[in-house]
Amino acid sequence: MAVLCPFPVHEWPEQAAKLGDGTSFSALLSFRGFHFLSGGCAVRLTRKINAIQPSATLSISARAKAMKKKGVDVVSFSAGEPDFDTPECIKVEAKKAIDQGFTKYTPTSGIPELKEAICDKLKRENGLEYKPEEIIVSCGAKHSLYNAILTLCEEGDEVLLPLPYWVTYLEQIHLAGGKAVLVNCDPKTLVVKPEDLRKSLTPRTRMIILNNPSNPSGVVWDPELLREVAELAVERDLIVISDEIYEHLTYDGAVVQSIASFSPDIQSRTIVINGVSKTFSMTGWRIGYAAGPKDAIQAMERLQDHCTSNPVSISQKAALAALRCDSVLVSEMVSIFDHRRKLMVQSLTSIPQVTFPVPRGAFYVFANFSPYLGYQYQGQSIDSSMQLAEVLLEKAHIAIVPGSAFGMEGFLRFSYATSEEVIEKGMTRLREFIKELEPL
Ligand code: PMP
Ligand code: GLU
Repeated sequence: MAVLCPFPVHEWPEQAAKLGDGTSFSALLSFRGFHFLSGGCAVRLTRKINAIQPSATLSISARAKAMKKKGVDVVSFSAGEPDFDTPECIKVEAKKAIDQGFTKYTPTSGIPELKEAICDKLKRENGLEYKPEEIIVSCGAKHSLYNAILTLCEEGDEVLLPLPYWVTYLEQIHLAGGKAVLVNCDPKTLVVKPEDLRKSLTPRTRMIILNNPSNPSGVVWDPELLREVAELAVERDLIVISDEIYEHLTYDGAVVQSIASFSPDIQSRTIVINGVSKTFSMTGWRIGYAAGPKDAIQAMERLQDHCTSNPVSISQKAALAALRCDSVLVSEMVSIFDHRRKLMVQSLTSIPQVTFPVPRGAFYVFANFSPYLGYQYQGQSIDSSMQLAEVLLEKAHIAIVPGSAFGMEGFLRFSYATSEEVIEKGMTRLREFIKELEPL
C-alpha cells in the first residue's frame, strides 16, 4: 500500500494555518482523506475501508462499559451477548487442551474431530448431510460470514438484504465490493414478502443473506416463506447465506428450519453459518463455522489460510465439548432468556405508542419508537433513532442500539441478554424518560 504525505511533517502547522479559518489539524487531514497516526505520519485509507462504519452494536456496548467503569450507573440493553458463564464441562476440556500442550497450529479449516462433530450436529438437528470437507471452522460466525461473502460476492454483484438486517452484513458486502439491495419488510411484522424479494431482483443479483431467527427483530421465519425463498433462489440461480446462529434460542414453540433442508438443489447453493457463541455462551472463544459445497468451502479455506490460519486450537477443543454437551444446559439458558423476554415484552407494551412484533427467537426486541421522533428531552431535540439512543445513553444512562444501524429509522433494539433486575431497572428509567419528552 502506498503511504502518501501531502507535505513534509514539519510544514503541517503552516499548511493548516494557510486555511486561516481555524480548521483543526486533524479535520484538515481527514478532509483531504488523510488521517493522523500516533507516530506523526499520515496515511491515506483505502476507499473500501473508508466506506465501512464501525459496528454500532460493538461500539455502543463498549461505550456503555466505559461509562460504567467511570462509575456511571448505566443499564445496558445493547450487547448481543449472553451474560452466563461458559458451562463448566466446556471449560474443563479447554483446560485439558492447554495442559496436554494442544497449543500449536491446527489445519486451517479446523481439527478433524470438530468438523466431524459439526457434521453430526447438522445431520441430527437440521437433517442436513455434509462431509468434513464441506465444513470450515473460523474465528467466530462473523469470520465465517466474511469468508463466505468475500469468496462468493464479486465486485458489483447485488446482494439482497432483507430489512431489518444485522449491521455486519452490510459492511461485509461493501468490503467485497458488492452492492446491498435492501428489501422492505412489513413495518408491523418485520417480515419480508416473497413478492418484494422478486421485485428487487436484477440480472446482477447474485446472493441473498438470511438470518433466522433474526437479529435485530427476534422474528423466526415461517417455513412456508423460507420454502418460497428457496424456490426463488433455485429459479434465479442465487447463492444463499443462511445465518442460523440463534437457531437454539427460540420461544413459544417456534421451530427454526434451515433453508438448506428443503431440497438438494437449495442445499447445493447455500452456505449455512453457525457457531457456538450464542447457544453455549462462548462469545469470547471465537468459534464459528460454515457448511456448504466443497468448492466454496475450499475457496474460503484459501482465504482463511492467508488471513488468520486456524481458529484458536484450545477454543476448537472447547467447541467440540460444547457440541457434545448435554442439551439440558442449553434448554436451561433458553428458559431463563424466555422469562426475560416476557418481562421485556410486558414492559415495552406499557410504553404508549410503541409497537413491535413479539419476538420468538434470539434475545432482542426491535421496537418502533418513531412516534417519539420530533420530541425533545431537556432541550435536546430528537429527530432520529441515533439521537434518541444518544440522549437515552447520555441523560437516562440506558444503552440501546438505534434502528438505523439495522436499516430501520425510528426503531430501537433492546437486548434482553441481561438479568431481570437490570431489565426492570432500565425499563423503569425508560418509562420516566418517555414521560418527560415534549413535542418540539
Ligand atoms: N450473526 C449474527 C446475526 C449475530 O448477531 C452475531 C453476533 N455476534 C454473529 C453472526 C457473529 O457471532 P460470532 O460471535 O460467532 O462471531
Ligand atoms: N452480534 C451481537 C450484537 O448484534 C454482538 C456484537 C457484534 O458482534 O456485532 O449485538
